[in-house]
Order: sequence, then C-alpha cells, then structure tokens
Amino acid sequence: MELPTVSGQELALWRDRAKQDAIAAGVSPDEVDWLLEEVADLDKLSLRLESFKERSQIPLKQPLSVLTELWQQRLQDRMPVQYLAGVAPWRHFSLKVATGVLIPRPETELLVDLAVRAIQASPTPDLASGYWVDLGTGSGAIALGLVEALPNATIYATDTSAEALAIARQNAIALGFGERIKFCQGSWWSPLEALKGRVSGMVSNPPYIPTSEIARLQPEVARHEPLLALDGGSDGLDCIRHLVETAPDYLCPGGIWLIEMMAGQAKQVVQLLQKRGCYDKIQIFCDLANIERFALAYRC
Ligand code: GLN
Repeated sequence: MELPTVSGQELALWRDRAKQDAIAAGVSPDEVDWLLEEVADLDKLSLRLESFKERSQIPLKQPLSVLTELWQQRLQDRMPVQYLAGVAPWRHFSLKVATGVLIPRPETELLVDLAVRAIQASPTPDLASGYWVDLGTGSGAIALGLVEALPNATIYATDTSAEALAIARQNAIALGFGERIKFCQGSWWSPLEALKGRVSGMVSNPPYIPTSEIARLQPEVARHEPLLALDGGSDGLDCIRHLVETAPDYLCPGGIWLIEMMAGQAKQVVQLLQKRGCYDKIQIFCDLANIERFALAYRC
C-alpha cells in the first residue's frame, strides 16, 4: 500500500503549529519531533537543521489529518505520545505499546544490567543458563532484555492480561526472540508450577503505587496507563509482598530475586525479605536519579 505523502514545507508548517500548541498546553514541544521521527521516518538531525523542508515528498505512516487528530489527543486528553505513535524506545529496542501495557520506563532498563551483575557476583554455577522469569511482563520489555543479555537462558514471561501478552509476543517475534521466550497467561507464578525449585532468577517490575496516590500521578499516567500495572494496593506493597512470599518455592538454591519498587519502599522491602527467612545478601540499588529503586536478594 502506498503511504500518504506531504511536502517538506507543509510538514514544517504543521510542526511549527503543533509545537506552539504544545507550549500553550504545557507539553514539551520536543515530543512533536519524537512523533515525527516515528511517523515520518525523519532523523533527529534533519529535524534539528530543518533540512527536511527542502524535500518535495515525505512519506507518512499516517495522513497529516490523522496526525493532527493524534496531536489533539496528546494535548487535550493527555494521551502519552508513545501510545499515539504505538511504540516506545527501551534499551536499544523499539517496542510496540498500546494502552493495555505500561509504557516501559528508562529506569527499568537497569534491571537487566543488575540481573547480569548479580549472576557475575554469585558463587552459584550455571545461573546464566537456567530458567529466568519476568513476572508481569506487560510489553515484554524485561523478558526481551533478559533474553538478549543471557543467550543460554530459557525465559518465561507471565501476565494476567491477555492483551499485554499478545503485545509482548508480537515484540518478541519482531525482535527475533519469538522462539526463546515462553509466554504464559496467569497471575505471577501460577502458570509456572512445573518450574518449582528450578528457577535461576526472577525479575519483576510489579505494580507498586499506593492506590490513593494514583489519582495524583501525571494525567498521562493516571488516565491512560493500565491500573493493573500500577496499583499496588493500600501501601503499594501488595504484589511485592506476594513475590517475597512465593518466590522461595520456585527459585533454586542461590537463585536471584530482583524487583523494581517506588521511592521510599526500600526499607520495608528489606524487612519483608528478612522476615521471610529464605533470602540472603539482600541489597538495594539506586536508579540514575539516585532513588532507591531496586531490591535484590538470593534464595538461601
Ligand atoms: N514507574 C511507574 C510510574 O512511574 C510505575 C510502574 C509500576 O508501578 N511498576 O508510574
């Protein structure tokens, strides 16, 4: 199918207008360029230098009238630009996203590196080649990071949402990892009974926002991202408590337990892990904003 096209001049006018509207609505005008990179396949430099203006025809994935509607949704409904473009960059992947999955965040990228370092720091042999699980996979981001970083591991990814799993599966296939990640529908460990006692590592970015705080998040998050991926119950720790409680049945001795959490939760998460009595070498790691964001422990 032929893509619609637009002249460089026309696109430049559209872009100026969209940027002005963004500024008036309190949205970063840089998002206009990000959207154009995705839908007009323009690179950052040609946008910065405005060299695209000289082109007589620029192919667009969507006609300009549709782009105008999308941009209105961005400004009026506060729809995140990643949902409008249908993609989000994460590590060096471009992941398909839709409102049924949380937009993968930059801080979550570090979870994959922490998993690799945790393997390197461990005396347990063969952790890198065993079973690894991403519980609550959403778009599949963490599972994809793991499958790439651990070429000899077998990855399982679970989610209760069929819609999320369908997107995660599409991402895995598009990136050539369709065969190496097994996607299972169900809550946390429930589809993985067969792996009891055999899992080398569990990684998860569970919902961890206290219910009462969700309405106070940015409207982009509160109105459009899936509540299922955000709401961690009254203190935000419901899912983390569940993972602390259940993981020892599934992890092998020396197996790795690694999660993302919210600012301010580290102390309680350490206490939960200590109280469970099955974990050692409990550690907290910060994200790049120096916020205590990740908790790591090893199954005794
Ligand atoms: N980090 C996400 C946010 O900022 C929350 C993700 C989660 O609950 N796991 O909204």
